[in-house]
Amino acid sequence: MALIVQKYGGSSVADAEKIASVARRVAESARGHRVVVVVSAMGKTTDGLVALARQVTPSPEPREMDMLLATGEQVTIALLAMALHALGLRARSFTGPQVGMRTDRAHTRARIKAITAERVSRALDAGEVAVVAGFQGLSDEDEITTLGRGGSDLTAVALAATLGADVCEIYTDVDGVYTADPNVVPDARKLGRVAYDEMLEMASLGARVLQSRSVEFAKKHGVTVHVRSTFKPDPGTLVTKEEHAMEEVVVTGVTHDRNQSKISILRVPDRPGIAAQTFGAIAERNIVVDMIVQNISRDGYTDMSFTVPRGDHARAVAALEAVARAIGAQGVVHDERIAKVSIIGVGMRSHSGVAAKMFATLSREGINIQMISTSEIAVSCVIEDKYAELAVRALHDAFEVGRGSAS
Ligand code: ADP
Ligand code: ASP
Ligand code: MG
Repeated sequence: MALIVQKYGGSSVADAEKIASVARRVAESARGHRVVVVVSAMGKTTDGLVALARQVTPSPEPREMDMLLATGEQVTIALLAMALHALGLRARSFTGPQVGMRTDRAHTRARIKAITAERVSRALDAGEVAVVAGFQGLSDEDEITTLGRGGSDLTAVALAATLGADVCEIYTDVDGVYTADPNVVPDARKLGRVAYDEMLEMASLGARVLQSRSVEFAKKHGVTVHVRSTFKPDPGTLVTKEEHAMEEVVVTGVTHDRNQSKISILRVPDRPGIAAQTFGAIAERNIVVDMIVQNISRDGYTDMSFTVPRGDHARAVAALEAVARAIGAQGVVHDERIAKVSIIGVGMRSHSGVAAKMFATLSREGINIQMISTSEIAVSCVIEDKYAELAVRALHDAFEVGRGSAS
């Protein structure tokens, strides 16, 4: 009898009818296996709660934000448990704190420190389906925390690792991981398998089908993740260890991320310690900086540009304006209408000319590149937001990503 952790995302549990159909799917699995179900908030509930908080105040306290956001998942666990009962199954719902999901105290982006999962094990031993609220935990100070947007994926993977589950199934509104967002690129192809490292890059570069931290966790603990459709029975995509053949394909995926904004600090005095002071001010506010570009210096001054998540934009600009005054820089300019497009593939390690081909493709479409960054297996360009979808389609075409063998 296998132990399966299944996670159902927001769109899969968006209304009572969908919850009933998820319950039927869970019931099928529960016939031959021990099942733990992790659920997200219904539909766009979390977005709605964020918007509600902003109507009350432009800068809600992170502790209260977590108190608010954690309510979304609690609604779903109770309703799904009821739907399972209605099918004659024994099931019990649990919040994150109830399953011993211990995190640090970084509200709205907490990291998991430990999970006891004792109540889950007890429920399974008693022949019950355990229904667990994703996305939430408890700090050592007994404060409710959340794990960052998309964090139910992380709850599921972490529970799978702790319980030694045979597989962690992520059920969503697409039937697997595609070579690009299938809602943007019509000829995107479903991948049969994808290596952890590729999936990690794809997730952190904008493929929101899996939260990047969940992939990091899966890789570290060797959890096999199966991304599949809630609405169709077909097998989806296995996220797993790299296989040699995977290197033959140069570009496995193309992603875009419209959730970033660009900030530049102009005419910064070019002397030791300035970058540390600048980024220190950002780090102090727990803002994650992504791409950083510093120009060569002329006459003792230089410009620095970097990107931050769009939600942190206003706080980052405010922090930077203070730093600019303190260090005698000319000022701060910013642009929220940017997008980052990226190509990803483990095969890039052994192929050359990939970046050049990406730049040529964007230039053929008349798209200006504002910033560039590379890693061993990815190249990213910041471009004007309005060209994001055009760029993804052009790159998907140029690298013939849709034509690879259906591995
Ligand atoms: P859930 O609510 O189930 O967590 P998400 O909205 O977080 O679902 O993730 C699923 C969405 O991810 C899809 O609807 C799709 O538009 C988007 N997506 C982006 N890139 C990809 C990709 N490469 N493969 C599959 N889906 C992708
Ligand atoms: N409900 C949370 C969110 O929308 C967590 C999740 O769905 O994974 O981000
Ligand atoms: Mg998600």
